Amino acid sequence: MTIDNGNHLLLSGNHAALGYLRSIGAEYRLIGPAHAEFSFADLTSGARWTLRMNDGPIPFWVFDPARRVPGTGVLDYLPLARLLWAPAGKSVGEVITCKGTLYERLVEPLLLAALNIDAPDGSARLAGAIVRETLAVGGRACRPLIAREGLGSTLIEPALAFLQGRRAEVRMEHQLRALRLGAERVEALDFGAETISLSGDDAVILAVPPYIASPLLRDLTVPTEFRAIVNAHFRVAPPVAQPPIMGVLNATTQWLFAFPGRLSVTISAGDKLIDTPREELAKKIWSELSTLTGLPPELPPWQIVRERRATFAASPAQDAKRPGAVTNWRNLVLAGDWTDTGLPATIEGAIRSGNRAAGIIAKQSQPS
Ligand SMILES: Cc1cc2nc3c(=O)[nH]c(=O)nc-3n(C[C@H](O)[C@H](O)[C@H](O)COP(=O)(O)OP(=O)(O)OC[C@H]3O[C@@H](n4cnc5c(N)ncnc54)[C@H](O)[C@@H]3O)c2cc1C
Repeated sequence: MTIDNGNHLLLSGNHAALGYLRSIGAEYRLIGPAHAEFSFADLTSGARWTLRMNDGPIPFWVFDPARRVPGTGVLDYLPLARLLWAPAGKSVGEVITCKGTLYERLVEPLLLAALNIDAPDGSARLAGAIVRETLAVGGRACRPLIAREGLGSTLIEPALAFLQGRRAEVRMEHQLRALRLGAERVEALDFGAETISLSGDDAVILAVPPYIASPLLRDLTVPTEFRAIVNAHFRVAPPVAQPPIMGVLNATTQWLFAFPGRLSVTISAGDKLIDTPREELAKKIWSELSTLTGLPPELPPWQIVRERRATFAASPAQDAKRPGAVTNWRNLVLAGDWTDTGLPATIEGAIRSGNRAAGIIAKQSQPS
């Protein structure tokens, strides 16, 4: 089976990502429900519910006990507004109370997945951006979208075809070793066996991870702490009634995704599972899935994928280390999910950073 390193989820409110997909003709490769619905299961109590957000910005779903999180009341949702205006430098735990039914059943699963850090330690500014762009906009911004046939055929291959059609050359397997830096401009790119000299109007968008960018550029401040994401994949036909996406509480499993012929689990901030023997982890997760789905307890064929440095740690301190796109060199701009996008490390943030970098270069090259 072709499986991605993670079950990457986009939301219908990720306007930059959707704009990018439209421009490369690949928007149809994302699939998701017509409305923002999220199924949840609590492994300990056996409780199950579905959160059903209405499409518009007035949150009628919060007033409807059949749509909102069971065991919560309207007033429980009000404190979330505090995140909307949270100052940089504060953690989620300093801005809202991290306990109670709404926190456990909605806020924690949402923030853990979006920030990839234990929710109370997460940056309130970044959490606020998530709430502002999702819950506060309404269900039409919260429809979960998945790359139907994987990330490569959705985000990458159509983009490569688009570029090829415009005679842009893309060179893979080409590792940048150093930048030759002049006083004001980058003068050359050193790829080891090959050096590319830059002429007058050449520009460089450096879109490598922070731990690669930092040694390439003197005095660049970058995030230095990271969090892991763990994914477990099981080759098994999901039960017919299995929702495409399900949040799971009180379990090692956090989100369960159903694909044709496969069940996949995502565990954010999974650092404590990095050293667990793979088979032990697969068995533990499968026992939870067997309980949740009613499938037989025998372990089906499995794969565990652990990304140690999946994202920078979205804490206030690490968020403060993110640089903007502009550098001290006129022909060099930065891009990447770790630059200061105002969002956590997500596909949406990465694409916005790319748009911003391209915009800066395009502006520079306009005749004055
Ligand atoms: C397991 C996992 C699950 C995730 N789930 C989600 C999700 O559900 N939703 C979501 O929105 N986001 C998710 N993310 C985050 C998302 O994948 C990232 O935010 C996004 O891919 C970052 O894109 P980027 O272009 O900034 O960086 P990258 O995709 O890391 O790209 C950096 C590129 O630089 C290249 N490179 C490195 N060194 C050099 C060098 N010296 N020379 C030349 N090239 C170099 C690398 O090969 C790489 O291609 C997840 C990430 C992981 C790891």
